[in-house]
Amino acid sequence: MAETANLKEAVLWESAGGKKVRCKLCNFRCLIDEGNLGHCCVRKNIDGVLYSLNYDKVCAANADPIEKKPLFHFQPGSSSFSIACIGCNFRCSFCQNWQISQAALESGRIDGTSVTPQQIVTAAIHGRCKSIAYTYTEPTIFMELCAETGRFAKQKGLANIFVSNGYMTIEAIDFAKDWLDGINVDLKSFSDDYYRTLCKARLQPVLDTIKYIAHQTNIWMEITTLLVPGQNDSEDELKKVAHFLVTQASPDVPWHISRFIPQYKYLDAHPTPISTIELAERIGKEAGLHYVYPGNVPGSKSESTFCHNCGKLLIERRGYHIAQNLIKDSRCTSCNTLIPGYQL
Ligand code: SF4
Repeated sequence: MAETANLKEAVLWESAGGKKVRCKLCNFRCLIDEGNLGHCCVRKNIDGVLYSLNYDKVCAANADPIEKKPLFHFQPGSSSFSIACIGCNFRCSFCQNWQISQAALESGRIDGTSVTPQQIVTAAIHGRCKSIAYTYTEPTIFMELCAETGRFAKQKGLANIFVSNGYMTIEAIDFAKDWLDGINVDLKSFSDDYYRTLCKARLQPVLDTIKYIAHQTNIWMEITTLLVPGQNDSEDELKKVAHFLVTQASPDVPWHISRFIPQYKYLDAHPTPISTIELAERIGKEAGLHYVYPGNVPGSKSESTFCHNCGKLLIERRGYHIAQNLIKDSRCTSCNTLIPGYQL
């Protein structure tokens, strides 16, 4: 049987002369010789055609609270059917899902269960989920399954969300924007050195993605920054992140400041002090962000949503549990201010 008989041709690539191909899915824009893999190790040039090696190989599937993504202004209190395929285009040394995100790189194995988009959507409906989340690993590099599932999910009345490192190209965002309803983008740092050293990537493409999604699409976006002690938690850097979000995205973009717990190759460090999370929260609010949330800080009052105009408690959270939601038709029930989000 031909090597390609059970493989899915990739989306968003072009011939680059002879049998070379150029992948246009993420900002590595790999130029791939015949027989070779892209940087993500899950896309291969076979005889001058680019194929996805992880299409339909689902390695994780769970019904999660949408708050776990985290998305706090998107169908709050709902479940999101969350799936992943092996692989990632980043090499973050602190990755919390490294067993699946780095498997193709570390072992060359791309394991998973073969499922169809229809089966995924059916499982989501049976699980009473209101959306499908493409998460745990980087969804951009299993875009083929995301697109086919996402289009079918929309027909069945479900929303679609990405939890992403934000490294997709503008072409990839345009490819997804008709069926993608929400996204949480990791803005890991405001330092190119940080991205180069700890993630083996670059900062600027992530900033470009955030600006493009904010101004050129209708995709609801929230941002997450994991604060790694001594790496990206200086007052100066936090001010730069907050200023960027306010001026280049929107004051309405929720910013999740997440507490670091040592993981994977980054074990010689301490968890983020709570005082640093509180500092970032204050900086975000002083910069003008309307919604700043601590992550991995159980019991914090700040994980609830308060109206940015009158301060009324609107969504009371206890971890991933919603104790009460007082938003009506996306408006504050005290002062009638519009609360930004998706189906609030
Ligand atoms: S998805 Fe990104 S890393 Fe993978 S082959 Fe394409 S450009 Fe390279």
